[in-house]
Amino acid sequence: MNATLTFLGTGTSMGVPTLGCDCAVCRSAVSPAGDPRNRRTRPSVLITWNGHAVLIDTGPDFHAQAIREKIRHVDAVFYTHAHADHILGMDDLRPLTFGSPEPLPLFADDPTADAIERVFDYTFRPARRGTTIARVRIHRFVSPEEEIELFGATFRRVPVNHGNLQISGYRFGSAAYLTDMSSIPEASIAQLQGLDILVLDALRHTPHPTHSNVENSLRIVEQLKPKRAFFTHMGHDLDHAATDATLPPHVRLAYDGLKLDFDLDPNPNEAIA
Ligand SMILES: [Zn+2]
Ligand SMILES: [Zn+2]
Repeated sequence: MNATLTFLGTGTSMGVPTLGCDCAVCRSAVSPAGDPRNRRTRPSVLITWNGHAVLIDTGPDFHAQAIREKIRHVDAVFYTHAHADHILGMDDLRPLTFGSPEPLPLFADDPTADAIERVFDYTFRPARRGTTIARVRIHRFVSPEEEIELFGATFRRVPVNHGNLQISGYRFGSAAYLTDMSSIPEASIAQLQGLDILVLDALRHTPHPTHSNVENSLRIVEQLKPKRAFFTHMGHDLDHAATDATLPPHVRLAYDGLKLDFDLDPNPNEAIA
């Protein structure tokens, strides 16, 4: 089953350019003579197949990202965790939910679901006449490696460590998306074998307590051996072209708008046999 992964945003929580910063990467991000790949909105991906569309996270830039990618329809949202750069665009889903017969499902672990219900509390109160709240329904994961079936595709939660938090990564077919991750628990390693595409957090070069850096993510690529790896959640320390030039050929920095084709079958490695 052919699917496409689109990077809606590839930036860290502050985005690139970072407000108030005049560094070379932040200037390049907005200058006509610069590199548009250095302009990084807050991190999120879109997965599309057979006319279906699933989001992982809805950050503060979701409205602009959805206009850029002409998103007219969403079937489900999977949330990684409740930090602002991953949830604050939830309310922008509103016009995409009004016409559908069923509320839009939002899949999240308990702490993330609790935060979404707190931040957008008006959304989860009984609707009053004339209000235009999002028609969404939260589905809480009941097991750490829960599998959700959607239109012939399987999305599996893969727990990852984000500093002291354990948050949700996702595996879907031959691809996995692990943003906001400082390390991968031993139990999750088995879920990340045989990947064609692995997307990993790589904030910058210097170590950070809650995010992987380029060097650590390169070690994870060595360990998991995906066919191709793409880095995301990047700050203004990483110039796109200069950093890409230092990486092995099967590892690239992602950029906003990058599209990758992949196989969404439940067991792509067994599908050939
Ligand atoms: Zn983040
Ligand atoms: Zn985070």
